[in-house]
Amino acid sequence: MQWRWSLDAAINNPLLLMKRYIRKNILELEPYSTARDEFQGGDISVWLDANESPYPNGVNRYPDPHQKRLKERVSQLTGVAPESIFIGGAGSDEAIDVIFRVFCTPGKDNVIAIAPSYGVYKVAAAVNDIEIREVLLNEDYSLPAERLLAAADENTKVMWICSPNNPTGNAFPKEEILSLAAKFDGIVVVDEAYADFSEKGSLLSEIGKVKNLIVLRTFSKAWGMAGLRAGMAFSLPEINEYFGRVKYPYNMSSMIQEELMRRIEEGTSDHIPEIVSERNRMAKALEKAGCVGRVYPSDANFLLVKVKDADALYGYLIKNGVIVRNRSRMPLCSETLRITIGTPSENDRTISLINEFNNL
Ligand SMILES: *Cc1c(COP(=O)(O)O)cnc(C)c1O
Repeated sequence: MQWRWSLDAAINNPLLLMKRYIRKNILELEPYSTARDEFQGGDISVWLDANESPYPNGVNRYPDPHQKRLKERVSQLTGVAPESIFIGGAGSDEAIDVIFRVFCTPGKDNVIAIAPSYGVYKVAAAVNDIEIREVLLNEDYSLPAERLLAAADENTKVMWICSPNNPTGNAFPKEEILSLAAKFDGIVVVDEAYADFSEKGSLLSEIGKVKNLIVLRTFSKAWGMAGLRAGMAFSLPEINEYFGRVKYPYNMSSMIQEELMRRIEEGTSDHIPEIVSERNRMAKALEKAGCVGRVYPSDANFLLVKVKDADALYGYLIKNGVIVRNRSRMPLCSETLRITIGTPSENDRTISLINEFNNL
């Protein structure tokens, strides 16, 4: 089959892959060249190339647009080469938008996403005037591989898979995602924002091997730095190069780059085991509550819980100072609340409020 031949060729050859999936205007883009890009090294003590203020105040100089030192640190952490790393200064939300802008021609191309899933894919698609084809998960929240592939046509460029998935909480088996990537004529993005809480592993080690794979990670969840706004995309160097061209040149401030490196040294991800054990404790406790119909298995730092009257319980928790997320209006999620795992005492309080509601 001609199509099969070209797909195999494209997803195994970076140059063909880029031509096939990257927008033409982006392939031809002459990127903005910053003052510091043109500087080729040398023993400089007077910097008069960037119209900065010469008076030192900690932030008078432009930051490194390529975040070289930070990428080296992230490379040590992940085992992925710096050339394969994109870091967004607006979290992985920035990576999501950059992916749309690199691969999808507005008004023409489309993407496929699982549903229910993270809301930003849909909003970023709409902002970029890209059709998003949402494919319902199976009833048990497993991956509908055949239906995902069937939703594609010749203008489909990207498939969004969130694993562990928000809000359902489950991670999909690695082999299933890899098998999808092998059959899909396009780019597969796996959003692993919650992978640090999962025992099902990560696809990071496949970067470079599976050419049409992009993996997203974030400092917002397990690393505890949601306020810093730093997210990552890992991909083939040939693809990552175009993310670098399309992003805003100085997309991450020097203070954030330094703060991230400082906190990575400190190793702030120590809370993962406690959050995982609290998640499992809370799941057991909630299963016993009378108003709880089901606690879905979770590979993340939250629980999706099916309850008798989600709106009423949601209101009751708020009245008592606890806010959770009501996901009842999402597909396949009727009467559900998504509850983030907090500190042990916060979890205790939430469990007792839910038991109390039960007895009202
Ligand atoms: C929270 C979350 C993110 C993280 O977004 P940031 O912009 O990095 O804070 C990414 N993907 C999913 C599915 C999430 O739930």
